[in-house]
Amino acid sequence: MTRDPRYDVLFEPVQIGPHKTKNRFYQVPHCNGMGAAYPSSMAEMRGIKAEGGWSVVCTEEVEIHPSSEHSPIIEGRLWDDRDIPVFARMTEKIHAHGALAGIQPAYSGFTTANLYSREIPLAPSHRPVEQTYPVQARAMDKADIKALRHWHVAAAIRAQKAGFDIVYDYSGHDMTVQMHFLSRRHNTRGDEYGGSLTNRVRLFREILLDIKEAVGDRCAVAVRFAVDELMGEEGLTCDGEARDVVEMLADLPDLWDVNISEWSNDSSTSRFSEQNGQISYTAFVKQITGKPVVGVGRLTSPDTMVSLIKKGQLDLIGAARPSIADPFLPKKIEEGRLEDIRECIGCNICVSADFLCTPLRCTQNPTMGEEWRRGWHPEIMPPRKSADSVLIVGAGPAGLECARALGQRGYTVTLAEAENELGGRVAKECRLPGLSEWGRVRDYRVGQLHKMANVAVFAQSPLTADQVREFGAAHVVLATGARWRGDGMGRANLSPVPGHEKAQVLTPDDFLADEGADILQSLTGPVLIYDDDHYYMGGILAEMLRARGLDVTIATPAADISNFTHNTLEQERIQTRLLEMDVTLRPHRELTEIDDGMVELACVYTDRTETLPCVSVVLVTARLPNDALYYDLTCDEEALIHSDIKTVTRIGDCLAPGTIAAAVYGGHRYAREFDEPVHDGVPFKRELPLLAEA
Ligand code: ADP
Ligand code: SF4
Repeated sequence: MTRDPRYDVLFEPVQIGPHKTKNRFYQVPHCNGMGAAYPSSMAEMRGIKAEGGWSVVCTEEVEIHPSSEHSPIIEGRLWDDRDIPVFARMTEKIHAHGALAGIQPAYSGFTTANLYSREIPLAPSHRPVEQTYPVQARAMDKADIKALRHWHVAAAIRAQKAGFDIVYDYSGHDMTVQMHFLSRRHNTRGDEYGGSLTNRVRLFREILLDIKEAVGDRCAVAVRFAVDELMGEEGLTCDGEARDVVEMLADLPDLWDVNISEWSNDSSTSRFSEQNGQISYTAFVKQITGKPVVGVGRLTSPDTMVSLIKKGQLDLIGAARPSIADPFLPKKIEEGRLEDIRECIGCNICVSADFLCTPLRCTQNPTMGEEWRRGWHPEIMPPRKSADSVLIVGAGPAGLECARALGQRGYTVTLAEAENELGGRVAKECRLPGLSEWGRVRDYRVGQLHKMANVAVFAQSPLTADQVREFGAAHVVLATGARWRGDGMGRANLSPVPGHEKAQVLTPDDFLADEGADILQSLTGPVLIYDDDHYYMGGILAEMLRARGLDVTIATPAADISNFTHNTLEQERIQTRLLEMDVTLRPHRELTEIDDGMVELACVYTDRTETLPCVSVVLVTARLPNDALYYDLTCDEEALIHSDIKTVTRIGDCLAPGTIAAAVYGGHRYAREFDEPVHDGVPFKRELPLLAEA
């Protein structure tokens, strides 16, 4: 296949300082939870992006001095020359595919508490660090500023030695000292670094000029700059001070990498913002500077990308999440294979890995983070090792990905799904408010399966154990999913909630079923949603039922609503939205009893109880695997042998209910490991710590 000439403009080179890109696809810096702790994994992942056609591949935030380190979060580390080989490995892998390597040194001021190094954080003014650790940053004096400039220069020289082509001066996300100095609310200094904007921008400008002087002949020097903080005059705005900053620095950097701040605005989920949602803030930059501009916005559509270039709004198409979901996105556009693009769904499971200090993972791309340790390439699967056939029961995320990946290996696969539509929970959940993009998990896989002659897909095919045995496949995979518990058991309630069997008690499955719309219409309030799941479902149902005009209370044993979504950058938005909709919030509460017209809640600390009037209760607590078919099949070993079935395996939610990302990963893993030697012990390569000399 050849590429559509409409997209030719995306494959034009762009000059950035002393370097020229091979196209306009630019992987902007993004965290990955590997960095300094798992450097081989990090390097391999970046190399794969370059292989996939990104013309620039950048690091994550890279610490440049022990007085600003991110522990326990894992980022890059370039404290001294001993760290150079880590990044040299990364740049080698990037250069091997003709891409440029960029590094984002980050000095994080009061954003980090320095828990590992125990050094005192530095900031423009005295103040506590951002997290609730009992640590305060101290105001920098002139000697500190001099030292900080020196650390940036030293880092730039090391970066150049490590092979980087682009070095950043990072003032974004409200996460670095350059931005803290720029900010009126953070900078209360009375010297030449505080007060007027000219003074507040001084440090950002000095560091830029310092880096240029140190490495500017060999490396391009980029700025990463947040052009709006979405807080009006309290912060930077694109028609106020941020615009003035761009005018002041205009052509000084070799590249403007622009976005909005803070991180939850920049990496907003699809539940809260549209694709390309940043351009109305960032578009002005190109009118001011003659230097190339890169911007982001969950850009996956080549038509949108072309229009951004043609309208003169961006020169380079920036991406973090779209490059995680599909490291080969540029190659697929180049080769005219748009239907093969695995589009990001904007769920921020990738972001959660960073907060949880673990290697990056992705709902759409099960190979993300597994490139080095498991040797998983996002586009290449090992060829089949036998002529065995596989029957997969259930076409949710796990079954679909398992069928797709086994099909790619060349196996003969049959996928049977009970319902009319494929997609399992994703097909249902993508109809919930704000989750429509999640349907891409199904769409990508169904699209791929359609192209595979060796995979037969049957909807409306609920299979029984007898039918599975009769079918005659050598291997059976059960991806039959899970159902929400109706008894209220979960993390807090270790036995069923008294009264749970009453008619007015519902679970999310009632709303997700075909007749869900009728149930929603017929529901009467007041409604209590009891959320002991802590992810998106409880909050979304509260929003949905309140939008229907019902009187809704959401109670949870946690301190706040949808507590896990702190890790997906959504919690604040969810809670704000519910409060604005007048949903009543009851945090720190366990559900202790359901009775006609009332529920009883108990305080998780004092056990003091309260009763609330309540007509309908929705229990969002935990799920149970749909594993009856598995036990029907495996309880009769002789019948299995008679039917020539060699293995029966559960995957995804049928094995253990989890995230959609976990189900996709489970399906992929089965397909990768099928017919391959079984590892006993640690199932992946590890990066072991080196024992230093005593
Ligand atoms: P996962 O997230 O693990 O993929 P889902 O719940 O999303 O799980 O999908 C499970 C799918 O399995 C559902 O679409 C369901 O209709 C289907 N399913 C469950 N039992 C059977 C069965 N006996 N025969 C065929 N399909 C089934
Ligand atoms: Fe996109 Fe979700 Fe993957 Fe992150 S985890 S890259 S948001 S699909």
